[in-house]
Amino acid sequence: MPRKLAAGNWKMNGLAAALAELDTIAAGSGAEDGPEVAICPPFTLVAAAAQRAKGGLLVGGQDCHAERAGAHTGDVSAAMLADAGARLVILGHSERRQDHGETDADVAAKTRAAWDAGLRVILCVGETLADREAGRALEVVRAQLAGSVLDGASDETLVVAYEPVWAIGTGRVAEPPQIAEMHDALRAALVDRFGKATAGAIPLLYGGSVKAANAAEIFGIENVDGALVGGASLSAGDFLPIVEALG
Ligand code: 13P
Repeated sequence: MPRKLAAGNWKMNGLAAALAELDTIAAGSGAEDGPEVAICPPFTLVAAAAQRAKGGLLVGGQDCHAERAGAHTGDVSAAMLADAGARLVILGHSERRQDHGETDADVAAKTRAAWDAGLRVILCVGETLADREAGRALEVVRAQLAGSVLDGASDETLVVAYEPVWAIGTGRVAEPPQIAEMHDALRAALVDRFGKATAGAIPLLYGGSVKAANAAEIFGIENVDGALVGGASLSAGDFLPIVEALG
């Protein structure tokens, strides 16, 4: 069984004052037998968050460059994230694929850089509403997985997050059968590629309008090992009940 993970993606939210929220999340999520808990704040807060994170709270980045260093104004490398205390990095989020034109090949190159820096990757995949309405959801997500996951992945280096684009920030959660179908397909694709023992330990997260009110139902679905949470991770009061529901 994969270790469960509740990860918060703060996206482009959070000034220094938000670190107080992180302290409360850390204080409420340290149980030894509980799920792993991670917060991925904006780059500007990673170092401060990592310094303050107590009780096993993990801190992650939201993206990294594919190179270790160089002439890339405004970019941040995986080595820099690791140096700042990050243990994880989100890669291939649909907002980066959409806003920055990131391809599966880009995500694969960034994954290599992240692994070289010792970071665990939370790889995001997910179809658009147009893909789903055209009956292409499974095909699109399988192709993203095949194109961006590198050989040699294991539970120590990879988490996969299924985030249907139409469910992100919309308040519209995927139906349990839709989540179940996709998570089963993701697990099967990982088993084909890495074998049962390795693939069976890689956590599969669901993301898209997860909140306290729907978390327990989502976590009851087979092959859902946790959540990647956007809006509801910004406050401890919203996020900790989700961590609790994951148990
Ligand atoms: P919301 O939880 O705000 O829908 O965001 C999901 C997400 O994109 C997490 O990466």
